[in-house]
Amino acid sequence: MINVLRRWFGSSTITFDPDWEPILLEQFAHWSALDDAELHRMRYLLSRFVHDTSWEAARGMDLTDDVKVIIAAQASLLLLGLEIDEYFDVSSVIVHKSTVRLSGAHRTAGGTMSDSPQRLAGQATPKGPVVLSWNAVRRGARRPEHGQNVVYHEFAHRLDMLDGITDGTPPLGSESASRRWSEVFTPAFERVSSGDSVLRSYAATNTAEFFAVATEVFFNRPHDLVTHEPEIYEQLRGFYHQDPASRLSAPDR
Ligand SMILES: [Zn+2]
Repeated sequence: MINVLRRWFGSSTITFDPDWEPILLEQFAHWSALDDAELHRMRYLLSRFVHDTSWEAARGMDLTDDVKVIIAAQASLLLLGLEIDEYFDVSSVIVHKSTVRLSGAHRTAGGTMSDSPQRLAGQATPKGPVVLSWNAVRRGARRPEHGQNVVYHEFAHRLDMLDGITDGTPPLGSESASRRWSEVFTPAFERVSSGDSVLRSYAATNTAEFFAVATEVFFNRPHDLVTHEPEIYEQLRGFYHQDPASRLSAPDR
């Protein structure tokens, strides 16, 4: 099996371990919604991510295959329809067992500076590491209906950063596409700021957080996004070249 996959991937160094398949089926809800062509590309992308990433475990964390594969699969889902096969300039992925505690000065959601320790599910910094809480990662992979997903969130920030500016607008390829993006996202950002949105209030922090939170809902609760923010859904469908609402069945309500 490994030899066959090696030939498909055209590389002698990247292999999809068949033992990962049951891990994905059991722990990543989105996996069973993917069709054969999507699974083929996903196996390539996530294998590459597992092999190429510099993994670091925070104290008390055991970096098993399960951990790497579940993180890699979710990060890879964002790349599935894009013409890039990897995230650039990610120095490492640092996995904490539970809450990520960071010290040092930082800007709060309200825009002021604070020295108090931060407790986070994850963090992405330009050209630096992506930091993740395994508890939050695992919860997000298994229970998409809750809407939140720290891996989608942090790696959406990394896509946003590809053009060098973390502003909630990833590279779109043309000025007219950027203009249309802004026409749709600006009023939607104002709606979430006034509390009238399907997106959680953290999206109102700034436009970068809005894009990251919208990405979580796009993949986890696409039918809700289609219903409440159809234009945001269309913009994200165009950017990610994916249509999760047609892939996933609508929830029973
Ligand atoms: Zn964020």
